[in-house]
Amino acid sequence: MKRCLCFFIICALTLTLAMPAAAFAEDTPVTEETTSEEPAAEPVVPSTEEPGTEPEEPVAEPEEPAEEPEQPEEKTVKIPKKCFVDKTDKKYSYKDMEKDLKQLEETYWDRIHVSSLGTTADKRKIYCVCLGNPKAKKQIVVTASIHAREYINTPMIMYILERYCRQYDKGKYQKKTYRKLFEKTCVYVVPMANPDGVAISQYGPKAIRDRSLRRLVQTTKKYKNTYRKWKANARAIDINRNWSSGFGKGYLHKKRYSENYCGKRAMSEAEVKALKKLVTKKCKNCKTVINLHTMGEVFYWGYTGKTKKAELKLKKIVRDTTGYWPIRETGAGDGDFEHYLKNIVKVPYVCIENGKGLVPNKHSQFTRMYKKNRTLLEQIAGLYY
Ligand SMILES: [Zn+2]
Repeated sequence: MKRCLCFFIICALTLTLAMPAAAFAEDTPVTEETTSEEPAAEPVVPSTEEPGTEPEEPVAEPEEPAEEPEQPEEKTVKIPKKCFVDKTDKKYSYKDMEKDLKQLEETYWDRIHVSSLGTTADKRKIYCVCLGNPKAKKQIVVTASIHAREYINTPMIMYILERYCRQYDKGKYQKKTYRKLFEKTCVYVVPMANPDGVAISQYGPKAIRDRSLRRLVQTTKKYKNTYRKWKANARAIDINRNWSSGFGKGYLHKKRYSENYCGKRAMSEAEVKALKKLVTKKCKNCKTVINLHTMGEVFYWGYTGKTKKAELKLKKIVRDTTGYWPIRETGAGDGDFEHYLKNIVKVPYVCIENGKGLVPNKHSQFTRMYKKNRTLLEQIAGLYY
């Protein structure tokens, strides 16, 4: 109603104004704004069409079809036919892992988050993957390949992670989907805690990019005189002997060596600092830490002094699932991560020694190891649901 009234007023005014203007209207350029067929005197003057037709409002700009606001495409997870992690890869390298992490995060954006806990001496990232809700109130931590030559655990835990991603909404533990389980208790996985060391064990010192670091590796004495059995990081410090609980104790080499050398001071190594940050800062309510090592098909555990219940439940799960023999740890340790977890962080932990025979393990052991570890995470997360 208001529109019609306005229109009539405007039209009446226009007619009065347009009459004298018509005389010189021919010279007046027709602007884009003018919608009338007749030349208009003023560009802003509205149409002089007969009233009664649908009134056209004066517009400053030619009317363009209203653009639909762009709707963001709904992002859904499409499970690819093939797995990203190649379980047949005998030398699953840092680069392979990096590529898979990227693809996993892109594909399973709603269930996996990748971050870096720090950078090694040879500038490799210490990656950390969060499976489930990163804001979950409870966390479980898994580390693999703290010892370089034990790198078979890296593709194994990556393959386990991928399995959870693929079956996130269909797979269940005690009638709860993995999504439900890991939304409540998320799992932080460090699939390759010692990437420089792994590179040395897989490809020798040529894999070290920093010249002085490479020289250091080349001049370090090594067990059995082979780089394949390298256990330490690229600074020739064993990052499972660099922790503050029991630092410098136990059987150790006095100077840098491919294994069992603790360094000059506790907690000096980037890899150790990264793991410390994870278990003390990033995970405010860490319930369990699982460290994956090889070999011997045994596992280490211990009482934290806080509770015996959680430790015993964890021990039972690991024993029943893997069938490995449990070994209880006491005392201050020898600068290893486990005793730091037991005595300082006071969190229930296990150190699982997968595999049999010599290290690095033959790749033929992968399937057996995978089967023994496959359901551990859901069972432990189930404890804290
Ligand atoms: Zn080890």
